[in-house]
Amino acid sequence: LRVLGIESSCDETGVALVELPEGSAGVAPPRLLAHALHSQIDMHQAYGGVVPELASRDHIRRVVPLAREVLSQSGLGLDAIDVVAYTRGPGLAGALLVGTGVACALGLALQRPVLGVHHLEGHLLSPFLSADPPEFPFIALLVSGGHTQLMRVEGVGRYEQLGETIDDAAGEAFDKTAKMLGLGYPGGPALARLAEQGRADAFALPRPLLRAGNLDFSFAGLKTAVRTQLLKLEAAQALTEAARADLAASTQAAIVEVLVAKSLAALKGSGLRRLVVAGGVGANRSLRQQLDAACQRRGVRVHYPELHLCTDNGAMIALAAAMRLQAGLAQPSEAYAFDVQPRWELTQR
Ligand code: ATP
Ligand code: MG
Ligand code: FE
Repeated sequence: LRVLGIESSCDETGVALVELPEGSAGVAPPRLLAHALHSQIDMHQAYGGVVPELASRDHIRRVVPLAREVLSQSGLGLDAIDVVAYTRGPGLAGALLVGTGVACALGLALQRPVLGVHHLEGHLLSPFLSADPPEFPFIALLVSGGHTQLMRVEGVGRYEQLGETIDDAAGEAFDKTAKMLGLGYPGGPALARLAEQGRADAFALPRPLLRAGNLDFSFAGLKTAVRTQLLKLEAAQALTEAARADLAASTQAAIVEVLVAKSLAALKGSGLRRLVVAGGVGANRSLRQQLDAACQRRGVRVHYPELHLCTDNGAMIALAAAMRLQAGLAQPSEAYAFDVQPRWELTQR
């Protein structure tokens, strides 16, 4: 089964071809045959955030050339595609419509069915493309630009939400602090780089909901605390390069500590010994180090996506479609209807 996946929910256009070996279901791992990606980050930088209309227009420009690139990388022709998958939601409506429209047009032209995929299910399953794929069941920490959730995952399509952020997402906390520190947008990776030069215990920042006794998160207050600290430093003319690095390191430490503590609590509460981390913040070095150390002490295995598949990409969309089809959970459609779902809970998948 070969699935072409198209991702266009936000500011990355991604196309990929994934192959699931036929027959013995679940035994042979899925293979990524080819993938291509274009990030619009440079285009949105000037505005300090994603401009939805610009995003849609750029997806239109990029998607077909990227699909061509994927086919040429794979050495396969269009007729090698069995199913065309696309991100149906959640995301920006206009951006989603581009991937959906192209997927439906391609499906109609090739006489192949199409399948809409939940973007977060793509993130969640992306570690199955890694060299060390997980096994069900597991606890999943989904940490992206728009979401922060802990899920109990029994199998493909069997997701129970254990907790989520009540305000900002973890990636948003990284991005907003980075912006305050003048690190551009989205500044998560830049903040992480600056943090490497700072002291994580330099500033006492809050650990929101750390002791709330539940698995929910809150990061909005942290952002305010950072702003207050920044203003203090500025007023004292003490905002040196070293102080900025200290503030970056302290912010990252606060976010990471809460993510690690709540993940451990979810593991403990469930009795499971396997953790999957997915989404853009899953690329964070400090988060990986601290999770690895804490989980090793407790005999818990941690699985991550390959670094380049942490943020948005077409591979995870093709993979999620392939795994749903393999599990008999999805019926690809030949209706070629333009349906996107900008707001969509993963548990309603
Ligand atoms: P969602 O998937 O919730 O719709 P999204 O698609 O925008 O949101 P992702 O592509 O999964 O999110 O991840 C992007 C986020 O990951 C950004 O907030 C970015 O700053 C953050 N990020 C990426 N790399 C790192 C890193 N090394 N450290 C911290 N944050 C990072
Ligand atoms: Mg993005
Ligand atoms: Fe994403």
